[in-house]
Amino acid sequence: MTSSNTQTLLLIYRRLYERYGLQHWWPGDSPFEVIVGAILTQSAAWQNVEKAIANLKNAGVMSPSAIRNIPQDELAQLIRSTGYYNAKAAKLKAFVTWLAVTYNNNLEKMFAIDTGSLRSELLAVHGIGPETADSILLYAGDKPVFVIDAYTRRIISRLGLASAVDSYDGYQAFFTANLPLDTRLFNECHALIVRHAKECCRKQPVCCNCCLKDICRFEVIQG
Ligand code: SF4
Repeated sequence: MTSSNTQTLLLIYRRLYERYGLQHWWPGDSPFEVIVGAILTQSAAWQNVEKAIANLKNAGVMSPSAIRNIPQDELAQLIRSTGYYNAKAAKLKAFVTWLAVTYNNNLEKMFAIDTGSLRSELLAVHGIGPETADSILLYAGDKPVFVIDAYTRRIISRLGLASAVDSYDGYQAFFTANLPLDTRLFNECHALIVRHAKECCRKQPVCCNCCLKDICRFEVIQG
């Protein structure tokens, strides 16, 4: 794996790591908590997810069986801070119901199956799209699956990489084809990209303060 894209991605990774250090993703006391967080963080700021996770823990509802047993409207109130709380309560219910029926509530059994098959199964569960499925696989299951989000798309396109790509699968294939399949690297790389997008490569980018400025094509692309 010695293509120029590989070298560029590894250079970006090293620069971001030197700038921001270890990101310690994904915060969570257990794989199940990481999965709950992955569903709740859809269209929500992480601070609001943290409040909801604290509510679930304080109410004794951070387990598959507890989420299955609590009435949906009560569950919705506990996760209210994340927005779309009725829809998200339904999504959590759908996941734990599927987990019980398919894997007898056993996450180890779930993560033991082939990664591609599990990804397809997760995508068939109500409320789980590609970003959530891949976050579950990478951050709860330690699988080498690269997570794509709006921040990743923004930075990669501004840098002028993968210019012909315009889909979730296309961006993911770009990373998978050009980086070693290394869970630790994928974990840290995605977290660093998110950090950089929040601190520097914002909607209005602060290019003068960017550690990637010399390899970025944003100004050229903008004309
Ligand atoms: S130079 Fe500007 S546009 Fe390019 S990555 Fe840095 S902040 Fe983003």
